[in-house]
Parts: sequence; C-alpha cells; structure tokens
Amino acid sequence: MDRTLITEITETPESADNTSADLPADHETYTALLAEKFGYPGLRPGQSEALRGLDTSDVLAVLPTGSGKSMAYVLPALVSGRVLVVSPHIALMQDQVESLVANGISAAFINSNLTNVQKRDTYIKFRDGDLDLLYTSPESLANQVFVTGLAKAGINLLAIDEAHCVSEWGHTFRPDYLRLDSVRKQLGSPRTIALTATATSQARDDIARRLGLDDAVRVVHSVDRPNLTFTVNFGGGNSEKQDFLLDYATKRRGKSGIVYVGSRKRTEELAELLAGAGLSAAHYHAGMAANTRSDVQRRFMTDQIDVMIATNAFGLGVDKPDVRFIVHYDMPGRLEAYYQESGRAGRDGEPAECVLIYTPYSAAGPRRFIDRDHPPASELRIAWRRLCALVGPDSRVPESGFGRFDGKVMAIRAFQESELLDKSADTLLSNNPDADINSMVVDRHREHEFEMLERMLGYAQTLGCRRSYILEYFGEKSVDSCGHCDNCLNSSGSDGSGLVGKIIQLRSEIAEQSRMDPVDVFEDRTARALADARPKDEAELLEVWGIGPVRARRWGKQLLDEVEKWETDNPDATPRSSVAAARKTTVSQSRRPDHDDMPLFDVLREWRKTRAAEEGVPAFVVFSDRTLAALASAKPSNLDELFTVFGVGAAKRDRFGRGVLEVIEEFQSEAAEAN
Ligand SMILES: [Zn+2]
Repeated sequence: MDRTLITEITETPESADNTSADLPADHETYTALLAEKFGYPGLRPGQSEALRGLDTSDVLAVLPTGSGKSMAYVLPALVSGRVLVVSPHIALMQDQVESLVANGISAAFINSNLTNVQKRDTYIKFRDGDLDLLYTSPESLANQVFVTGLAKAGINLLAIDEAHCVSEWGHTFRPDYLRLDSVRKQLGSPRTIALTATATSQARDDIARRLGLDDAVRVVHSVDRPNLTFTVNFGGGNSEKQDFLLDYATKRRGKSGIVYVGSRKRTEELAELLAGAGLSAAHYHAGMAANTRSDVQRRFMTDQIDVMIATNAFGLGVDKPDVRFIVHYDMPGRLEAYYQESGRAGRDGEPAECVLIYTPYSAAGPRRFIDRDHPPASELRIAWRRLCALVGPDSRVPESGFGRFDGKVMAIRAFQESELLDKSADTLLSNNPDADINSMVVDRHREHEFEMLERMLGYAQTLGCRRSYILEYFGEKSVDSCGHCDNCLNSSGSDGSGLVGKIIQLRSEIAEQSRMDPVDVFEDRTARALADARPKDEAELLEVWGIGPVRARRWGKQLLDEVEKWETDNPDATPRSSVAAARKTTVSQSRRPDHDDMPLFDVLREWRKTRAAEEGVPAFVVFSDRTLAALASAKPSNLDELFTVFGVGAAKRDRFGRGVLEVIEEFQSEAAEAN
C-alpha cells in the first residue's frame, strides 16, 4: 500500500461508532430485502438459522454450495452497512462484487489487483459509509495500516468466507488465514460469521479454535446435493481415458462442463483433443499469464467456451450456476477436494453429473504430491540454512525466504514448532544454522494426508452407495441407497448384482487358500465389473477391469466357472453388458435438464447471452437459468408482473425488464401467427 493511503488512513478522524453491531432481530426486514433486491421468495433454512444466530452471537456456518450462504452477511450489510468480507481468492471476490452491484448493492473490493489510487478511493468510500460491503483478501490484512484504518472506520460484521482455509488439516490450508484471529481482535472483535461449504466435524472444531470462535453458534446443514449424480468410470491407460472423455463430451455438446486433470501439460493436450473433434474447449492452469487466464475464464463464464480442461487452480472463483458436468480425469488426493470441485456442477439446482475416472494408477499422482509437499528432515535442514544465510540483522524473513520450495508450508510449521520462527512467519527467533529442527509436525501431517488418500480410494472402490460414502465422510447420517449414483443404479433389478456376492465369496476362498489379502486378489470393483460383463472365455475375461494376464492365468478358470454356474441358475437375468457398454449406460441414464418443451426458454437464453456480452458480465449476472425458466412459464406482460417472478429484484427489473418483456412479447406474437 502506498504512502498516500497510509496518510489518508492515519489521518482519519474517529468518525465511526465502533461499538458492537446492531443487527436486527426483525427477520421480516431481511425477507423483504431479499424480495426487493434479489427477487427471492423467502429465506432458506440455512440462511435463516445463520441470521438468527447472528442476532445474539458469532456464527460458524457450514452450508453447502448453492445454499446462498452469502446472504447471511449480505442481508445484514443492507441493514447496518460496514460489513467486511474476507475471501481467499481474487477472482471469486470480483465475481461476487459484480453480482451484488448488478443487484443494485454498494459493494467493492480491495486486493492486489487494484492500483494504490483505487485502493485509497475504495477505502475512503467504506470509511464514509458509502459502501455496505467491502471484500478483501487475507494478504491485504497483513498490512497493519489497512487494519488500523478499518478499525477506525468501524466494522459492524466480519464475514470470513471459505473458513476451512484456516485448518492445516484441511485440503486448502492457507497460512494467511492464521492471522485472522489477531486481525479480528484489532478490529475490536466485531460480530463475526465464518462460512464454509465443506468441513468434517474435526475441521469445524479446528476452525472455531483458530479463529477464536469457540462460543460461536454453529449452523450445520447437510452437504448433500441431491441434484448431483455420482459415477466412477473405470479406465485403464491414457488412450482409453481419452476415448472415454471424447465420447462423453461429444454426447454433451453445447453443455457447460469442467474436466479436472492433474498436470498443466495435460490440460493443453486434452483441450486440443476436444477442440480437434469440433468441441468448444479451452485449457486453464496457474502457469498461464494472468490476463490469458482471466480472459479464458471470462469466456467460459459467458458461454463462449463449453468445456474447460483445467488443473485445480480453476474453480474457487468460478461460480457459474449452469455447469452440467464435472469430470475428474485424474483423481484428487482427498475427498473434500473431490467433493468441492464436483460441487461446482449444478449450482442452479438442476440435475448435473460428477464423474471420476479411476484406474489402477490413480493414486500415483496424489502420492507424489504428498511426498513433494512434506520434505524429509534433510530438506528441512537445507531450507533452514538457506533462511539463516538470507535473513538480515533485523531477523525479518524476506519475501524470497523460501524460494520456490514446495515444502514451504510444512517447513514453516516445523520451524514454528521448533521455536525458530515466530507465529506469523515474519521473524526468525534464532540464527543458528545447526539449531534443532523438530520435524514431527511434518511426519504427522504426511501420515494424515496418506490416510485421507485412502479414504478417497475407498470412495472410488466402494460397491455401496457413493452418496452415503460422502455423507458419512462428512459425519452425516448415511442413506441406504440414493438411487442416483452408479452403484445404486446398477444394483437395482436382476442385472447381475447377485453375482457380485458370489464372486466376492469366491475371492475370500482364493484369498484364504493363497494366504493373501482379498483386495490383492482383486479389488471390489473388479467383482462388479465381472458381474456386469459376465465373460464367457479368457479373451473376454482379459477385457474386464482389473484382470490382467497374471490373474487370468491363476484364477481365470474358477472365475469363468462361477459366472457360468450363475447364468445357468439365473436363466431370466437381463442380458449381460460389455464393460464399455455398462460404462456408457451408467452415464447416460442420469437425468438431465430438459427444456425441450419450452422453446421460449432457449430464446431467453440467447437474449441473455447477447445481453451479458454487451454488459461484459457472466450470463448468470443477468438472470439465472431458474429465473429464465420462471419467466418462460409466467410470460409476464408488464413490469409489475415481471417483478413477481423468482430472481427479479428492483435493480434487474429496471436494468433488464424492458428488454426481457420485448423478447417475450415478440415470442408470443410469433407463436400466435404460427397457429
Ligand atoms: Zn447411491
């Protein structure tokens, strides 16, 4: 931050009343604002509980993606103003601010993308009460002058979004988040709400402890997303995976989707593959220039690109409601990461698909990442010596202190545990290159990560309901059968599920005879694939997922006999499917949104695309799919009628109302002529 801003802030008079927030217990005000500004009919259960909690206390809210959790701080901002929102990702905060502004709300952000003049102007607006919401990043809050200025301006509510980033046991630990506890105190401990979409109960405790929110009211809603279908596709080598992807994406031409892969190079290869087949695809990874990245993201958000092939760098800022499929071409190392990335599908509540491609090599990538991020003692020593050599007499750690060291986060934790580095990782407490380094914290963390990877593998391999597996993972009560994951869909009817049991039994016998672990004989999934394919000879057996020449030679005869016996006993069973066919039906069986009977919807969609392009905003900023569907069915003929439609608030009525009414009127008269 520049000198001008420093002067500006330090000269700020004690303008604001910095006593604790006065948040209204009157929830009718909130409901009215929700209708007026956003056109939503009422508060959802999670929103309303969080708001009630804030009346009397701090709140830790675990609300699933798509639940509108931001309303828990946006509505208080409309009533009381001066709400500070901490958000970890610059693209995310820009999109959120853009969306709010489109609804006629005074919001802005301060982050490293702004010039110093812009930062100063924004700060002054907030200080003078001209902004209801100010978004900022945890890095910006490292600036003491900025924090002091905010404290003087007075904060009515502090909202910490993506709060799971504070937990080092979480999947997206951000050391920057550790400073938020002390920032909060410097701001005079204002009323605080911490929000996250995914947190296990262990992570919740960790978040509360690290943010000083032990007494906060906890609002926890199910992470279940009933509109998502979960499927695991069993693949082999790279060419098989590519064939699957090509086929899958071709069948969904024109739909919005994201394909997550494990390496930058592969994003480019696969985007080329899909584009070569005439699909609208592009790639995204953190190694691309910032302006190229934001350009390609913008084109995805405005429906100019259908399929984005990306590393996990893509997503935190991607709040596109109508993503219809997420394919994980490579498996992530943790179920939270998988579920969070998959959760970017179907935010509009319409059906969407989540597919994981799983192969016998899927764990190799995540294992490599874990090893890379958890340096052994020898590497910690090298990093420490380097730091001692770099740090000057004032003991301040320079920006470049760790260079490009992948083990940086864990090294910092080890040096802190060894009392060599202070809590904020700014100052060395010792300058002895041979000081004792306690690497236990790194070893513990590495072990924890490997356990998490096992749970992820468990998801890929389970024969049970995948949704149940996820819910149990997050500490929720499971369901017996969700009816729309691949396992639930496949096990209904006489499709061979009885055979799975027989094969598992046979596997136990083989395991006992050969003194092996059952999973080393073959995985659960192979039992399922055998039951689906019901091979008749060795050649067919070799095509089954998880059966190679060695297994075929050792146990092939027993397996083929078992299949034959079962078929004789069950002459009425449905015809067997080849492995490939089984794979294809699972995916296409899932429900997809169907607007075919509503051509007006498509017309409105086209109008929205043009309008969004004119305004240079993502399509959903104009209207969501749900609102377009409501418009297509209500067919309002004037502004008053339009205002009663879901998702149409005052700002959008004024901005887009006439345009949308014209489109509907034109459509109606064309339809009348056609009759
Ligand atoms: Zn299920």
